[in-house]
Amino acid sequence: MKKLITLLLAFLLLCSCSPKSSIEGITYSDGKYSMQIFAMDTVMTLTSYGKGSDEALLKASEEIFRLESMLSTEIDSSEVSSINSGGSAAVSDETLYIIQTALQISELTGGAFDISIAPVVREWGFISGDYHIPDAATLSSLLKNVDYSKISVSGNSVSLGEGMSIDLGAIAKGYAGQKCADLLKELGVESAILALGGNVQTVGAKPDGSLWKVAIQDPLDIDSTVGVLRCSDTAVVTSGGYQRYFEENGMRYHHIINPVTGFPADSGLISATVICPDGTLADALSTFLFVLGLEKSLDYYSTYGGFEAILITSDQEIIVTPGIAESFTFTASDTGYTCTVLE
Ligand code: FAD
Ligand code: MG
Repeated sequence: MKKLITLLLAFLLLCSCSPKSSIEGITYSDGKYSMQIFAMDTVMTLTSYGKGSDEALLKASEEIFRLESMLSTEIDSSEVSSINSGGSAAVSDETLYIIQTALQISELTGGAFDISIAPVVREWGFISGDYHIPDAATLSSLLKNVDYSKISVSGNSVSLGEGMSIDLGAIAKGYAGQKCADLLKELGVESAILALGGNVQTVGAKPDGSLWKVAIQDPLDIDSTVGVLRCSDTAVVTSGGYQRYFEENGMRYHHIINPVTGFPADSGLISATVICPDGTLADALSTFLFVLGLEKSLDYYSTYGGFEAILITSDQEIIVTPGIAESFTFTASDTGYTCTVLE
């Protein structure tokens, strides 16, 4: 009977979500409940163990669809679309929190992280799929309106400068993962792992008390991995040029843009994984470390801390920060990688 109700709930949820999103039923085997949804243009796999997991997963998926409808630039009725279309709008506390967090990070990174990069990302075709290299004149005119310091907040109202628009694609999936983890815990779940595209969020440890194992993808061969991280109760978020890209004349162009040049970031890093208890920060960090490059990322780590990282350079060097020295196992020496754990 309980299973029937679960399936019915899944069906009702499917009927109520936006046409961009979809959900498959919950599967169950050996105490493990799992469901797959498509939201935020990404396949997400939610897995939870123990009593109450089926209802908890359904609630988590509802939460993701709720956040998508509030934060997506591709849904006209979203709060972010209201800001973009009107130049200003009053938003919920949650949207405000994400935007304010993004603005603080922009300050700390001197603009390497900038949610007003949206028109440039769009011009490259990374949202429409109509990929092309923008011409220099178009790019330079779009870059004039990329400036986080022209985003102002007053109470719950967010205003943009003339000709600007924003996109929370580098931070909102992290917020969604964090919200779902918090929700599962509130519902009594002690063991879960949520994979929202390149964002992994863990709740507690595995049911047998051992740590979760998160594989770190080889950015040069996405069917392989370079190592395994053991962790619990944290977010593990990776940004890489291999996640969304196109190729033209033998060159690869990816979706993480350097706001100074308007071109895909070419910092020497090909993957940045961040391990941080706060999913929202982990998502933003992984994006801007990728833009900053190795040296500035390590400066940022020494100055601010609060996270650990696995950084991979185009020379196939893997740099691991000291806090995860014992938790990361390097497995890719036979594919040309070297690994250095910092002290
Ligand atoms: P991340 O490194 O986390 O983020 C890269 C993304 O951040 C880029 O795609 C760009 O949007 C933005 N960005 C690039 N450079 C910078 C920078 N320097 N500073 C700040 N931000 C930057 N995609 C679609 O094609 N269609 C959709 O309908 C759609 N809906 C979405 C709804 C939501 C709520 C969210 C959060 C994302 C959505 N996306 C959509 C985006 C899609 O999921 C992206 O692939 C994803 O956000 C990129 O995440 P990532 O983990 O690969 O990279
Ligand atoms: Mg990110």
